Amino acid sequence: MPATATRLSAFTESVIRGTTRLANEHGAINLAQGFPDFDPPEELLAALERATRGPHHQYAVTWGAPRFRDALAKKISRFTGLEVDPDRHLVVTCGSTEAMMVAMMTACNPGDKVIVFSPFYENYAADAILSGAEPIYVALRPPDFGFDREELAKAFEQKPKAIVVCNPSNPTGKVFTRDELLYILQLAEEHDAFVIMDEPYEHIVFEPHEHVYACALPGAASRVITCNSLSKTYSITGWRLGYVHAAPEVIAQARKVHDFLTVGAAAPLQEAAVAGLELPDSYYAGLTSLYTAKRDVFLGYLRELGLPFTEPQGAYYVMLDISSFGFATDSEASEWLIKEIGVAGVAGSSFFREPVNHLIRFHFAKSEGILRAAGEKLLGLRDR
Ligand code: GLN
Repeated sequence: MPATATRLSAFTESVIRGTTRLANEHGAINLAQGFPDFDPPEELLAALERATRGPHHQYAVTWGAPRFRDALAKKISRFTGLEVDPDRHLVVTCGSTEAMMVAMMTACNPGDKVIVFSPFYENYAADAILSGAEPIYVALRPPDFGFDREELAKAFEQKPKAIVVCNPSNPTGKVFTRDELLYILQLAEEHDAFVIMDEPYEHIVFEPHEHVYACALPGAASRVITCNSLSKTYSITGWRLGYVHAAPEVIAQARKVHDFLTVGAAAPLQEAAVAGLELPDSYYAGLTSLYTAKRDVFLGYLRELGLPFTEPQGAYYVMLDISSFGFATDSEASEWLIKEIGVAGVAGSSFFREPVNHLIRFHFAKSEGILRAAGEKLLGLRDR
């Protein structure tokens, strides 16, 4: 049999998705793969029903159905204050997952370097490698997961083509400040690099933290490529709707990558999702309160448990320090938690470049009953 491509040996299958499979096998509460267990807003469900009877069953325009792109442009404008031209600034993708792949392939030539903060969402290294680029890493350090400015400046001396910034960050929950983003932009400008933002948690930010849109900062227009998704904002992770928002010159190239990767996102779902994009500002405030309450419930149990954990500023993840249990690896710990405690979390090592082996990432995008059930089970760790 011929050998498969060598670049594939540089990364493994997704640990997040793998943990979900194991959780399902053992009937554990799945706090591993981050997605809500509750329904999208009623407006979207009603629109989805209508869309099934409409003329939306064939390919949409490759770079996004016009009605969806119009609504998307208005929604982005509303929050960033930028003028967004639906025909020049956007390409609609299958989730932010595809958006990130498109951004990376649009920005990078084979052999280029890409700065990735560690810990990082596991797709970024794979995206870089699949597009022929080489990820180089800069640490985000606890407790608040800031970066060292000199270390970042040094990484830029390696002449990277791009830097990837997840804001709010998965898995750390860090929300980048305006100052930090300006510093990143300044380095990117000095070294002529793109700043690839991944912002699916833009509306899940806890007070007093605030989401700053990097694309709206001075100097951003020509180098920020924003990847985003509707998954988390409207609780529709299975709809696979995302987009790239960038300068027209970048989008003209990104459209080609997207076209040959997937042709387009699902047409009836783009039609239905317009109802989400048109929701009033109060919806987003409600989403923030909803997740703040969920965070409070789940972190309450972790506090009671008494093990150290990371305090999220945004997104819906928390990393629990399980070093006191003395497991040889965090994968072993994650498997044990699934089988013996009945709660699934992701082995932290899958997010880190550094040899970190003592963290388990849980998400709290669950209904309160499930969060409480998981919390009670985790309290059982005190007797172990
Ligand atoms: N972003 C979510 C997580 O980190 C889900 C990822 C996925 O499986 N696409 O768990």
